[in-house]
Amino acid sequence: MSDPFAFDRPLRFAVMGNPVEHSKSPAIHARFARQCGIRLEYDRIQVDPGGFAQALDHFRARGGNGLNITVPFKLEAWSLADRRSPRAELAGAVNTLRFDDDGLFGDNTDGVGLVRDLVENLRCPLAGRRILVLGAGGAARGILGPLLEARPEALRIANRTVSRAHELAERFATHGPVTAGGLDQLNGAGFDVVINATAASLDGALPKIPPSVFAANGLACDLMYGDQPTAFLAWAADQGVTRLADGLGMLVEQAAESFLVWLKRRPLTKDVLVELRANPAAFSEAGRVSE
Ligand code: NAP
Repeated sequence: MSDPFAFDRPLRFAVMGNPVEHSKSPAIHARFARQCGIRLEYDRIQVDPGGFAQALDHFRARGGNGLNITVPFKLEAWSLADRRSPRAELAGAVNTLRFDDDGLFGDNTDGVGLVRDLVENLRCPLAGRRILVLGAGGAARGILGPLLEARPEALRIANRTVSRAHELAERFATHGPVTAGGLDQLNGAGFDVVINATAASLDGALPKIPPSVFAANGLACDLMYGDQPTAFLAWAADQGVTRLADGLGMLVEQAAESFLVWLKRRPLTKDVLVELRANPAAFSEAGRVSE
């Protein structure tokens, strides 16, 4: 993108996915923009299956400057990007697109957002720690690279479909001490950080794992968030885990990183996260939703 401050009209961004009507991203980016003195519009764009490439072209033709991409289009966004950051290349998934003069630049800010939330907001260092990632879907792909970059002692991927866990471990094998297995192979494992990157919480379900996955003073993190604690966080609390984190911090931090990718400014996140936790309804207000 050309100099973002040389425009005499608001810059145009959006989140594309399906569903997107509850996305908090418009409200988060509105606060970042205010903080940085940048005029921008940020919409939610609901895209039907099979319609992503066309929706992208349409948004760009109408003067769009960049996009966030969410379920189920992150892999398609990766393949449509003309250039990709190394972390997006490794993840095989793109959640941030920037419309540059010479083509479409794809990045993935999910993992760096999670690591920043864990290390800086929650004061949970990852270097030398044992990390367990539950799940091997799109979210897991996005977080593994940055988690390994934080130099843990060990990172285990456990998934319901074991073959998918092994595929991911192979993909990331040259980036750190990663192993893989099934959910039923975790007895007595004792991890310092257990990250639920499965979609189980979306249905109020729980990945079938033993309580012994948590080391003493371990932290449980669910990438999902909601008004109530997720099933995973409620279960972890029942097992005596006191350090609990939902996905709201990651959401705000990945948004800040996308803002940096688009606009070359990193907004401060602390106040936005405090406001989001205190008044989530203010972040779900009906912004424009287009199809
Ligand atoms: P996905 O690609 O559909 O992957 C789903 C994963 O969950 C697979 O590994 C699947 O296992 C597993 N799974 C589903 N139901 C399960 C169950 N009942 N028990 C055990 N495992 C189960 O989904 P995704 O895009 O990775 O999203 C995962 C989660 O991350 C969602 O809750 C999403 O909201 C969250 N997320 C949050 C943020 C944020 O900013 N906070 C960003 C991205 C994603 P199989 O392989 O066996 O099917």
